[in-house]
Amino acid sequence: MISMASVNKHYGSLHVLRDISLEVPAGQVVVMLGPSGSGKSTLCRTINRLEPIDSGTIAVDGRPLPAEGRALATLRSEVGMVFQQFNLFAHKTVIENVMLAPMKVRKLRKAEARRHAEALLDRVGIANQADKYPGQLSGGQQQRVAIARSLAMEPKVMLFDEPTSALDPEMVGEVLDVMVGLAKEGMTMIVVTHEMGFARKAADRIIFMADGVIVEDTDPETFFTAPSSDRAKDFLSKIL
Ligand code: ADP
Ligand code: MG
Repeated sequence: MISMASVNKHYGSLHVLRDISLEVPAGQVVVMLGPSGSGKSTLCRTINRLEPIDSGTIAVDGRPLPAEGRALATLRSEVGMVFQQFNLFAHKTVIENVMLAPMKVRKLRKAEARRHAEALLDRVGIANQADKYPGQLSGGQQQRVAIARSLAMEPKVMLFDEPTSALDPEMVGEVLDVMVGLAKEGMTMIVVTHEMGFARKAADRIIFMADGVIVEDTDPETFFTAPSSDRAKDFLSKIL
């Protein structure tokens, strides 16, 4: 579903992605770990081309990433992304936030978009908040709206970049539960997170990055009990 080959990316003189190659089959849940500044966010952002790359290739569902135009808009709709900041439209209601992109990009009629959005809000457990504004919701509820909004485009892949890092601790679980549900339904996911419980429970695969390189690529059991690199051992000793 996601195929990266020899991807390199620089910010000026900083070589932030170093020859990254990665194949993620459909339905796999990848949790990406690594110290701050290792390139996790940049890697995610290259997959829906929020960041251009210097060399290498990236394909989603067998199709190389388009550079621009309509093809890029289509790709973006196939690769959902959820960030630490929810980025909801503050002046639109919850359900309008979810209806907007399908109407604009997919040309869904309003009634159809609303029906679809209602089902999605129900799926993330906030159907009863549909007509409120984002500012009236808790952080956990807002992040669930953001997930519903991404799902409204029926993406083939979902990227999550520290989706719970900005939340109060008591709200982390409700967002992770939605993500676990998505994983169980077979969504292809890349999740950058510091939630090790989620990583152990939901990940099919752990990718550990440091300094722009994939240092370990293994199953959660092996990663958490027998990491092979000193970088991963050091990382785990600090967080566990
Ligand atoms: P992570 O998500 O693992 O913390 P990032 O991908 O955000 O890492 O960043 C990797 C490196 O690239 C860091 O050194 C960061 O400072 C740098 N970086 C990220 N975004 C930019 C940018 N837009 N311009 C310049 N440097 C950047
Ligand atoms: Mg990051």
